[in-house]
Amino acid sequence: MNLNTPPRQRALVVGLGVSGIASALRLHKAGWDVVVLEKAAERRSGGYFIGLFGTGITAAERLGIELPDRFSADIANYNVDRAGRRRRSLTFTDAIPGQARLVVRGDIEDGAFNALPEDVEIRYSSIPVALRQDADGVEVDVEDRAAATATTERFDLVVGADGLRSTVRRLAFGPDEGRIHRLGYMIAACSLPGPVPGYRVKDGIVLAEQGRSAWVFPFADRPPTVLFNYRTDDVDAEFTRPAIDSLRARFGPEPTGETLGWLLDQFEQAPDHLFDSAEQVRLDTWHQDRVVLVGDAAWCLTLYSGMGASTGMAGADMLGTMLERYPGDVPRALRAWEAKLHPFIEFHQGTGMAMRRLFVPADRTEYRIRSVMSRVTGTTLGRKVLSKRQHRSKAAQMKTVDIALA
Ligand SMILES: Cc1cc2nc3c(=O)[nH]c(=O)nc-3n(C[C@H](O)[C@H](O)[C@H](O)COP(=O)(O)OP(=O)(O)OC[C@H]3O[C@@H](n4cnc5c(N)ncnc54)[C@H](O)[C@@H]3O)c2cc1C
Repeated sequence: MNLNTPPRQRALVVGLGVSGIASALRLHKAGWDVVVLEKAAERRSGGYFIGLFGTGITAAERLGIELPDRFSADIANYNVDRAGRRRRSLTFTDAIPGQARLVVRGDIEDGAFNALPEDVEIRYSSIPVALRQDADGVEVDVEDRAAATATTERFDLVVGADGLRSTVRRLAFGPDEGRIHRLGYMIAACSLPGPVPGYRVKDGIVLAEQGRSAWVFPFADRPPTVLFNYRTDDVDAEFTRPAIDSLRARFGPEPTGETLGWLLDQFEQAPDHLFDSAEQVRLDTWHQDRVVLVGDAAWCLTLYSGMGASTGMAGADMLGTMLERYPGDVPRALRAWEAKLHPFIEFHQGTGMAMRRLFVPADRTEYRIRSVMSRVTGTTLGRKVLSKRQHRSKAAQMKTVDIALA
């Protein structure tokens, strides 16, 4: 052993989603030995529509994550109603400046996973059950649920990338009370087997009503995905029955009409779906000495901001940069990382709340505003004017910021 070479540092990354894989990639690139724990028995695939913006695309490129682009110029979007009336509206890329990419979540996770070097150790069916920090490191009790074994290991850094309901957050920061904010909206999503009857595969649709909406997101080269949103005063009650029953109850009692009826049937038959409540994580700080949270575990922006995957990758990328900048001083690197990232994330948490209106009108006033906008975007001139205005908005510009250079 060369006595002049400092020993390699060891990081534990918890979670094999976008933020976890990106963190593992970047830490490995920064010269760390990396172990990843994933609760599930295997890596997931597929997933729902993701719009990736400049912030995320730049981070992905720097991380060496190759991504498809499922956008095509002849994608069209329609506002529709239950009676089958349709009116052209803005497409996703009309509203965002720069080269936004349309992908599904699995595309990002696959691209990131394929870029992971072989010597990153991944342990499935494994979770952390206790963390103990001292001045030099973190001792972690790890449970392997498949083997029914428990071990204790030491790391120089623990990265909690284990999502909205993070275990690392609870172990390091305490109970979630006051840190998770329910928005009062349920979300449900799945892939569709093909185009919506009566529409092309490249047609997107939005059926927005007071307190509820259904969105179909189209792609150039694969079937669309659907996203349902609805408002509720009692999130817990929505989980007490099968997801499809909650959806049918909330989209009733009126007759669904052909399109909404078909979408609900597809959700019921889908082999795999997401059903959850939209919740933001708000923490004053994302690190405790040598334990740091990244992605949804730290700042879950919710789907309404459209920046969760982008900030997961950008946050992981910058974490590696700061660890390289302050070698041997993990706490200082984490402080610098957080100071740089916090204002950017706070901005997107704020706009995420406002963007919710775009996805689902909460009340009569929001519904009326949406109806007026729908008439405006129904004309070519209206779409042009609104698209231009959107491109100039601060919210859209902030989606393209390369946070590493900001
Ligand atoms: C419907 C929908 C649409 C969205 N649209 C967009 C969009 O257009 N643009 C965008 O940028 N973002 C979007 N998002 C947000 C984006 O998908 C998320 O922000 C992002 O995927 C979060 O990644 P993550 O890795 O931080 O967390 P997660 O994806 O939640 O991954 C966490 C991982 O940790 C694992 N895990 C959990 N607990 C443990 C444990 N105790 N031990 C070990 N492993 C554990 C989980 O199994 C999982 O693999 C959307 C989200 C939704 C729901």
